[in-house]
Amino acid sequence: MANLSDSWTIALHGGAGVTPGRDYAEVEAHLGRLVDEGEARLASGESAFNTVEWAVGELEASGLYTAGRGSAPNRAGVVEFDASIICGASGRGGAVAALQDVQSPVAAARAVMERTPHVLLCGEGATAFAREIGLPAIGGDPDYYRLAIGVTAEEMRPAGDGLGHGTVGAAALDRQGRLAAATSTGGVFGKRPGRVGDTPILGAGCWADRHVAASCTGIGEHFILAGGAGDVSARIRYGEAAPPEAMRAMLERVASFGGNGGLILVTADGQAHFDWNSNGLKRAAKGSRIARTLAIL
Ligand code: ASP
Repeated sequence: MANLSDSWTIALHGGAGVTPGRDYAEVEAHLGRLVDEGEARLASGESAFNTVEWAVGELEASGLYTAGRGSAPNRAGVVEFDASIICGASGRGGAVAALQDVQSPVAAARAVMERTPHVLLCGEGATAFAREIGLPAIGGDPDYYRLAIGVTAEEMRPAGDGLGHGTVGAAALDRQGRLAAATSTGGVFGKRPGRVGDTPILGAGCWADRHVAASCTGIGEHFILAGGAGDVSARIRYGEAAPPEAMRAMLERVASFGGNGGLILVTADGQAHFDWNSNGLKRAAKGSRIARTLAIL
């Protein structure tokens, strides 16, 4: 067993954007439970990679967020998922885009990394791969999906502009000093079939290396254009900026394209950072060297 350090941290998000006046008590309680359990897993020596997959799987399965069970259908009435996961220590990652009919898109992303020579599978090929390796499907179960908290059936209606959105994500540092991140979404509402956002693009919606682990949420088109999590990492890695400044600079680029959103970031020294220029960011963090964070607005 490797020597275990006394530094570990987990950060979670349940998406950018909060509708004023809506009751997010269930979301807050859920994020609180998950961050406590995630921190306990890391304290007991679990890897950051396993912990972020577990946390995002729980967020997907809850139906409380616009990911997994809480996802909105596209214009054709079909739910298409995007997800990614990355291990900063090994530099390996996997992702799926426009994936259909799989209960845990993040598990499919992990399988792409571990069971194929590829990094990203999309569309029919991704769905066929998930079938082939036996990942649990959703099937035709009409009761599977539920409206994510804060989303109305009216808002989920194909709007054309696809402004409503939601995502879940996790970033963690384990006791062996390894960072990992994972992100999963049903994407923006009313999206065209085949539309892919930032979430499955490693370096945009999700990133981890030896310095940081980050997960983004917001209008994916603008995060792709702004460079997202990869831009934040590069600013820190090249010594240009401390994490808060790097995150702000990337979000300012997102804003310059007309978008908004937020991100969570865990650094190798066990700190957790959050920033957003949307109306709130559902978030939580806990670690051996930081105070517990749990907030919506
Ligand atoms: N980034 C996601 C997407 O564009 C949506 C979100 O984070 O809310 O698909």
